[in-house]
Amino acid sequence: MALIVHKYGGTSMGSTDRIRNVAKRVAKWARAGHQMVVVPSAMSGETNRLLGLAKELAPPRQTASYERELDMLASTGEQASSALLAIALQAEGIESVSYAGWQVPIRTDSAYTKARIESIEDARVRADLDAGKVVIVTGFQGTDALGNITTLGRGGSDTSAVAVAAAMKAQECLIYTDVDGVYTTDPRVVPEARRLNTVSFEEMLEMASMGSKVLQIRSVEFAGKYRVPLRVLSSFTPWDIDIALEAQSGTLITFEEDEHMEQAVVSGIAFNRDEAKISVLGVPDRPGIAYQILGSIADANIDVDVIIQNLSKDGKTDFSFTVNRGDFAKAVDLLRSQVMPGLGAHEVVGDTKICKVSIVGIGMRSHVGIASKMFRVLAEEGINIQMISTSEIKTSVVIDEKYMELAVRALHKAFDLDQTPI
Ligand code: ADP
Ligand code: ASP
Ligand code: MG
Repeated sequence: MALIVHKYGGTSMGSTDRIRNVAKRVAKWARAGHQMVVVPSAMSGETNRLLGLAKELAPPRQTASYERELDMLASTGEQASSALLAIALQAEGIESVSYAGWQVPIRTDSAYTKARIESIEDARVRADLDAGKVVIVTGFQGTDALGNITTLGRGGSDTSAVAVAAAMKAQECLIYTDVDGVYTTDPRVVPEARRLNTVSFEEMLEMASMGSKVLQIRSVEFAGKYRVPLRVLSSFTPWDIDIALEAQSGTLITFEEDEHMEQAVVSGIAFNRDEAKISVLGVPDRPGIAYQILGSIADANIDVDVIIQNLSKDGKTDFSFTVNRGDFAKAVDLLRSQVMPGLGAHEVVGDTKICKVSIVGIGMRSHVGIASKMFRVLAEEGINIQMISTSEIKTSVVIDEKYMELAVRALHKAFDLDQTPI
């Protein structure tokens, strides 16, 4: 008997039929003697629907008070799906109880819409498990020190599940989704993509941080920090398949390197359409400029990703960086109203029609020429590179959004990902 955490994504929870199916699957695990904690997402489309309503009524400026209400609103999606799942389990004859984040509680900081989990109280959940109940914990949400409801950023239910698994010292965290594992790239974009049986934690971290939305980046960080065994698998297999078979399916995130990882130089291609580029033009080239620009952006709780500063000409330079598209308006507004006047910069310009494409692989460490091959492939397709960023195991480029699929397909082919036996 083991303590297992299951997480079900929006599509897997997308209708009452699907919720019933999830309940049957969870009931099967519970009947096999496991202690079960289940973390559901909102039903598919629900978070977007709620945030869309808020947008219709939104004030011109996005203040912290507005973001507080967004969290109050968006968290209801998971509250509803969690209660529905508990009800469906009760209909299966399984004792079940659902808790919102604040009831557990899952404590977070106060960064509305992208809060970070700080701690999870396990006593209440443990007492229910010991009493033989299946416990449902809402994904995506927590509570700050003042009792305000917070949410963890889009896709945040993955992080809830892994954090709960870490807090409860679960034997494994199974992330059930609408694909049957982690692929070499998004199978919706490249049908030839191949499923990986295992992927190293480091590669998964890069893939997630580069935009592969199959796992939210923070969930992978948690898994690494607390060594939570993590598996991504399909919720669309028949619910009554053999548990032993189910437990071996999908993709396991591994913490040790094995031989095949040495062989695959590039193991995946990630892409991200969620960023926008901001350029501050004609900035005086003197010490402290990057700090003045990016410091104010960081103070506004906006994450910055790729950064470049051009060579200076006549004592002036251009400074460009990317932010999440959701933060674009706020960042430009801030730069224009508060930072530019003090800097004496000419202009702040933005481009939301960009995307970032990345090649990821542990094997890149020991192979030279991988980045240049990437640049050659893109050049052959006539794709202009706007920004480049590298780490030991990834190379990313920022390009025009309209070339994204072309770039991903060409790179997937060029790095033999369609064919490499995995
Ligand atoms: P859920 O609602 O279950 O959390 P998501 O939509 O957040 O599901 O994530 C699953 C989706 O991630 C898949 O449907 C797939 O289109 C996409 N995806 C992106 N990159 C990959 C990848 N490398 N492997 C598998 N799926 C990927
Ligand atoms: N419902 C939230 C979202 O759509 C969280 C999640 O699904 O993981 O982003
Ligand atoms: Mg998701």
